[in-house]
Amino acid sequence: MDVTPGAWRRTAAGAGLLSPSGEVAPTIFAEMSAAAVRTGAINLGQGFPDEDGPAEVLEAAREAIAAGVNQYPPGRGIPDLLLAISEHQRRFYGLEVDPEREVLVTAGATEALTATLLALIDSPKDEVVVFEPYYDSYAAAAALAGARLRTVPLRRPGFQPDLDELAEVVNDRTRIILVNDPHNPTGAVFAPDVLAEVVRLAERHDAVIVTDEVYEHLSFHAPHTPIATLPGAAERTLTISSAGKTFSTTGWKIGWVHGPAALITAVLTVKQFLTYVNGAPFQPAVAVGLRLPDAYFADAAAALLRKHELLDGALRAAGFEVHPPQGGYFTVADATALGGADAAAFCRALPERAGVVAIPLTAFVAPERRGDYAGLVRFAACKRVEVLEEAARRLAAL
Ligand code: PMP
Ligand code: GLN
Repeated sequence: MDVTPGAWRRTAAGAGLLSPSGEVAPTIFAEMSAAAVRTGAINLGQGFPDEDGPAEVLEAAREAIAAGVNQYPPGRGIPDLLLAISEHQRRFYGLEVDPEREVLVTAGATEALTATLLALIDSPKDEVVVFEPYYDSYAAAAALAGARLRTVPLRRPGFQPDLDELAEVVNDRTRIILVNDPHNPTGAVFAPDVLAEVVRLAERHDAVIVTDEVYEHLSFHAPHTPIATLPGAAERTLTISSAGKTFSTTGWKIGWVHGPAALITAVLTVKQFLTYVNGAPFQPAVAVGLRLPDAYFADAAAALLRKHELLDGALRAAGFEVHPPQGGYFTVADATALGGADAAAFCRALPERAGVVAIPLTAFVAPERRGDYAGLVRFAACKRVEVLEEAARRLAAL
């Protein structure tokens, strides 16, 4: 069999996405979850909740299966989910979205992101700008699409970008500025001037803004602001989100992207040959979720904030320096005072040492920038209170 490396393999190797032996490395999340299973440690690594989301949403999926909603749904998604997404964007953000032409249901936010990059990247000279640290699939999708990934570091405290550095990186080769807000892994919510600068630079250099808003309902101290609501942004923005975090259904992989019809058509042309469609009985269930009363969404954010407060207190008591998140599943803590100046080594040892799994921030950073984030560790707070309390007891022994 011919196993000549394809172009993607070469690009992936260049982007540091392959293991030293040249194999596609397991994702850091899979590796750390396996370590948790192997050692019996509490898994504060991979971001998934350990309890079910709203009963109405789960019941709607069961009913759909029982009612025979088990065959391919339409390519763009079932009409009622497209409508529910459009209604949700109007209700929470005042955005007007045509459900028939401007929305596409995808296999999670991950597929929406990858299909978008594959659809919009034309040449190896095209650049995708992201804030660093970045969610792992961004570098992989840019490599798959054959684009050059350009990064702008997030600076402590607050993990905001320097606007001059952002303006230096965005240029006429920038095809996409990809912004994840609230941000994984840092927990940052970007300041209004950051969002405004992204729009200004995208207009100036004729780039498309792609947003990853999977934590949109988990912003703790201020209502979430989609970039598409900023003046001049909607016409050049693809807004991506998913049901996984909002309804604690990460395994369902129902996501969506909305934006100008021409851009959605471009993403659809790629998406139809990636998965074509997915999750027929989950689509009506997510439509039920998106129509839940406001209180559901507010309560979910408040409950997660309480969990963060518990986790952050435990981490401080154990000797970490904590960066409390503004949104999302994760807290970043500096392990230097605990002998964790090399957080990757610290996290490898942590399951045996303390019975807890966490992820080094270096997993979200290109190899050449790892030094800047070397002592930082990401902990997931999206676990049951008793699990976090047990983790707190274990961390106290460090
Ligand atoms: N983007 C970010 C920032 C994430 O944290 C995740 C993981 N949950 C995803 C995208 C992937 O979302 P999905 O599971 O809907 O593909
Ligand atoms: N989004 C999850 C996290 O950041 C992981 C999802 C995955 O395993 N790809 O932990």
